[in-house]
Amino acid sequence: MRPIQANISLSALEHNLAVAKSKAPRSKVMAVIKANGYGHGLLNAAKGLKAADGFAILGLDEALALRAAGYKKTILMLEGFFSVDELPAISEYEIDIVVHSHKQVEMLESANISRRISIHLKINTGMNRLGFKPQDFELVLSRLKASRNVANITLMEHFATADDSLGIEKPLAVFTQVTQTHQHPQSHANSAALLRFAEAHTDWVRAGIMLYGTSPIVEETAAQFDLKPVMQLTSEIISVQTLEAGESLGYGHCFTSTQKMRIGVVACGYADGYPRHAPSGTPISVAGKLTQTLGRVSMDMLFVDITATPEAEIGTKVEMWGNQVSVDDVAHAAGTISYELLCAVAPRVPLKVVA
Ligand SMILES: *Cc1c(COP(=O)(O)O)cnc(C)c1O
Repeated sequence: MRPIQANISLSALEHNLAVAKSKAPRSKVMAVIKANGYGHGLLNAAKGLKAADGFAILGLDEALALRAAGYKKTILMLEGFFSVDELPAISEYEIDIVVHSHKQVEMLESANISRRISIHLKINTGMNRLGFKPQDFELVLSRLKASRNVANITLMEHFATADDSLGIEKPLAVFTQVTQTHQHPQSHANSAALLRFAEAHTDWVRAGIMLYGTSPIVEETAAQFDLKPVMQLTSEIISVQTLEAGESLGYGHCFTSTQKMRIGVVACGYADGYPRHAPSGTPISVAGKLTQTLGRVSMDMLFVDITATPEAEIGTKVEMWGNQVSVDDVAHAAGTISYELLCAVAPRVPLKVVA
């Protein structure tokens, strides 16, 4: 078997959830486990985060898988339903839905369902992605309140700039202005807002990336927030090469050595989800020691510098990210964010749950 695997730490998930709860003690925490639990496996994430007050996912299939696995608390479909055929199952299995479009309101009003559905009404406070414009809010709310198919209504927004210097002041002011005469529960915060802005700690907070132990804020590390890495992506060296000064490495000969070097070839490539854009110099760990990648990442392999690691040979353990190498640092080197790397871990990489 190829030696690559992703170890998923349940205790780290539990720890990070406890951090979220302690930062927002007045709120119920909805653990966001969309995108296959940010690449960690839907049911692995649910297991480690079972103490959350609810789960958020995208698709009805994920919601039903969680119900089938025995989860009885709130489950929210973050984009709501996509077609009217989904409403009977949503109603029967008591799944909550985001309602963000007039089309959804119409379908919901005219549906024939046995049990009312609880909804999260999404207000567009500046992200301009999903949700109702502030001027449409009153009318939509009154229609939903009048519908025989709607149970509880929570009011929600999603921040576009909670992680940067623009913050949440403007969208929060728009939200407050629009909703001030209504007494519905509220849901505002993603991880960045949860960690930075207590004023966003309302009835619900929606924690995603922080639960997986990476930082939602570029200037701050996960460790500064006391978050622990959940995924450790490991593999092994499958070949060792020596380069003389002036010899080059891999596709495109992107790296040329200026001295004698030892090179490890690692069983991990972009088809496993390792970013092809990671340049020479991206941090990686071999035999527990920090070193760097070299040359171009190929489909199934990448190169590491083991010049200073004479003990490294075929079979030596390599950590692409996890405990020694932060996934945030790899993402930064590759010009992306940890979210993308975690979600991109390929189905061919076995996920191994560890305590
Ligand atoms: C994904 C998502 C979240 C979680 O965001 P993080 O940045 O991962 O914490 C929260 N709310 C909504 C609506 C989302 O789509």
